[in-house]
Amino acid sequence: MKKNRRDFLKITSMVSYSLVSAGILNMSASEKDYKNRFNNVTLNYAIATLEDGSLLATPFWRVDSGKKGSSLLLISAQHGNEVQGVEVARQFKEICVKQLVTGSMWIVPMANLLAIRIRRHSIDLGPEQSGNFTNGHDMNLVWPGDVGGNNTERIAYALDQAVVRHCSHAVDIHCYSHCLAANVMVFEDCKPSRLMAHFTTTRFITYQRFGHLDTISFRKMSFRQLMQKRGVGVIGLEFSGQFQMKERQIQIGLKSLVNIAKHLEIIEGEPQLIEGLRAVRSHKSENTYEVYAPCSGIFMPTQRSDRKVTLTTGNYVDKNQLMGHIIRESDLKTVSIIAPVAGYLWQFSSGHPGFDASLPSQHPYTKEGNIIAIIVTV
Ligand SMILES: [Zn+2]
Repeated sequence: MKKNRRDFLKITSMVSYSLVSAGILNMSASEKDYKNRFNNVTLNYAIATLEDGSLLATPFWRVDSGKKGSSLLLISAQHGNEVQGVEVARQFKEICVKQLVTGSMWIVPMANLLAIRIRRHSIDLGPEQSGNFTNGHDMNLVWPGDVGGNNTERIAYALDQAVVRHCSHAVDIHCYSHCLAANVMVFEDCKPSRLMAHFTTTRFITYQRFGHLDTISFRKMSFRQLMQKRGVGVIGLEFSGQFQMKERQIQIGLKSLVNIAKHLEIIEGEPQLIEGLRAVRSHKSENTYEVYAPCSGIFMPTQRSDRKVTLTTGNYVDKNQLMGHIIRESDLKTVSIIAPVAGYLWQFSSGHPGFDASLPSQHPYTKEGNIIAIIVTV
């Protein structure tokens, strides 16, 4: 055997060992790279060298129409406890295989595999710690990554090199606490991004400022800041509920992606907007009403008359509608909670809206004076 052939095999076996340990080689060859009668789909990997020298391969799909056009990125689960976008990615890939007519689609369903494996927001977190406790491992804040940085920065760097920098538009999928409704976030001063947000199907939309240039460290920034800096149209989609998969949220994501693809003309057809008006979340509060618990006790949301559906975030309530009741701790009386205005439920729960990571903060006990609902009028 010639030396260069032997060296090649040696290198190949080393790489294979790392890929096997990363759990990515136990798939059939047909899944790796296949062609159907519609569009090419390629499964590829963004390979990061971690601090201990091992390799981490993050899989992604690329669907290519073979024709010029926009290159749209769907990236989800940058935070390992925000996983509903993974199923959106799987279903949207199938749609693109059949329906992509121009351009290309890049899909990274599980951006932060290390955090997903430990079932937490970021890889340095322990039990019941929300993302606020991470120290330098919040993937969303380390872009464009660092080849010599910590493991999260190295993975982001590999993703940027292999995927992100090739894209003209991007949708970044996250998940809020279950107490908050699905929402799209967009920088208000970027027209391509505003148009993408317009075609999403979340009831809520939040316009943000890009931020003063002198307050942004351009060594590390959020994913959307990086995209905006590069002139890429970008939105953040936030579904309702961490640590879980909910069909209603997945459908919101899928319809939003299809609409954006139609808007970019990489899929044919007219976008289907949501019925009714968007509820706009802004810094101003004229359209936002907080409902406080009138007493302490256990909160129970109301149910539809057939008792099959419980009132939840994103739902519409009429003025004076029953939203639920508190079983008062002092005398066990049932105390009704009534909507003071008509509008959509932005927040709804006795729990703490920031902390799905903590079980006590999901407890239905409320203290008198706590916020139990936030209604946004339209
Ligand atoms: Zn997130």
